[in-house]
Amino acid sequence: MTEHVTENVVIIGSGPAAHTAAIYAARANLTPVIFEGFMAGGIAAGGQLTTTTDVENFPGFPDGIQGPELTERFRAQSERFGTRIFTETVTKIDLSARPFKYWTDEQSGQAKSIIIATGATAKRDDIIGTRDNELWQKGVSACAVCDGALPVFRNKPLFVVGGGDSAMEEASFLTKFASRVYIVHRRDEFRASAIMAERAKKNPKIEFLLSSKVTKVEGGQGVEQVRVLDLKTNAEQVYAAAGLFFAIGHVPNTAFLGGQITTDEAGYITTVPGSTQTNVAGVFAAGDCQDKKYRQAITAAGTGCMAALEAEQFLSGHHA
Ligand code: FAD
Ligand code: NDP
Repeated sequence: MTEHVTENVVIIGSGPAAHTAAIYAARANLTPVIFEGFMAGGIAAGGQLTTTTDVENFPGFPDGIQGPELTERFRAQSERFGTRIFTETVTKIDLSARPFKYWTDEQSGQAKSIIIATGATAKRDDIIGTRDNELWQKGVSACAVCDGALPVFRNKPLFVVGGGDSAMEEASFLTKFASRVYIVHRRDEFRASAIMAERAKKNPKIEFLLSSKVTKVEGGQGVEQVRVLDLKTNAEQVYAAAGLFFAIGHVPNTAFLGGQITTDEAGYITTVPGSTQTNVAGVFAAGDCQDKKYRQAITAAGTGCMAALEAEQFLSGHHA
């Protein structure tokens, strides 16, 4: 174990929030350190964008860009301004006194301020055909806003799994492109708010398959059909489909905080509205770990910028 000097800013995470924070902090001469994680939350360093193909809604890339390439560019820009990057997962932090303490499997150290940008992981059900290396990102996705507009889904039947607000919202969004959208939900009652469920029910392109479960997604280069089991009658039906979108919730990567930072009941970090300030002075949170609403690369980057500016302001106030 190497004991480090006290860092000005330690950034935990590796997606657009972490790297935007690093770019701003480095250009403010704060010599930031990033711990980008090693398969933290089950995702490679670089974050959720490493799990996708075309990113078409991040400004600056009019022809779109592959998710992994975009994350490599974020990383290169952080390094260009001198950010030190360690491919290690932060396993524990101690926020009880300043400077704060942190630990990875290989080192420990101290920091005057910390930016948490550990993101979230979209949940997927373990359905045959959707596991890694099968149809994942070949028609199976966990983000309708990100992938729904792809040409492969145009005027084709699509499936959404889930019964919460995300499922209703994603299904409504997909009706802009699809010929028909089936919402498959495992119960008869929705978790979604009444208003969101009503809106989906009124949409003529949406059909509900309730008390049902997708048992298999089949296809070759892309999704071709989906098998759905009616949990009440035990009858299985096969539907033609070009895509299946999971909307069964996300898990924010915040368990390692050990309850020292205030979160909501789902684990999303609570920040002071309009800022990235957490309940601990000098600790800031950016990106999907504090955002269950927008969950986009550009909003993550935006809050990463805010976190760095707020950390700079905190440090210049000689708080640390
Ligand atoms: P994340 O991207 O979630 O990355 C955080 C990373 O930090 C983790 O993945 C992990 O590698 C690391 N980490 C976690 N815990 C630790 C720890 N304890 N120590 C060190 N490191 C840690 N958005 C768009 O705008 N456009 C799109 O087209 C788009 N497509 C998407 C497609 C898919 C399949 C998915 C899942 C998401 C997509 N998104 C898209 C959403 C976008 O990827 C996220 O909103 C964005 O990546 C969130 O950024 P973030 O910085 O909060 O962190
Ligand atoms: P939720 O946890 O609210 O809903 C998840 C849904 O997925 C539930 O219906 C659940 O079923 C189902 N589900 C979970 N696991 C599985 C599984 N393994 N197989 C099949 N189905 C499964 O998550 P959401 O992402 O929908 O919402 C998260 C939060 O974000 C909520 O607070 C929501 O209100 C909010 N939100 C608000 C929006 C808005 O207001 N515009 C839009 C999107 C989200 P079951 O019900 O049986 O547990």
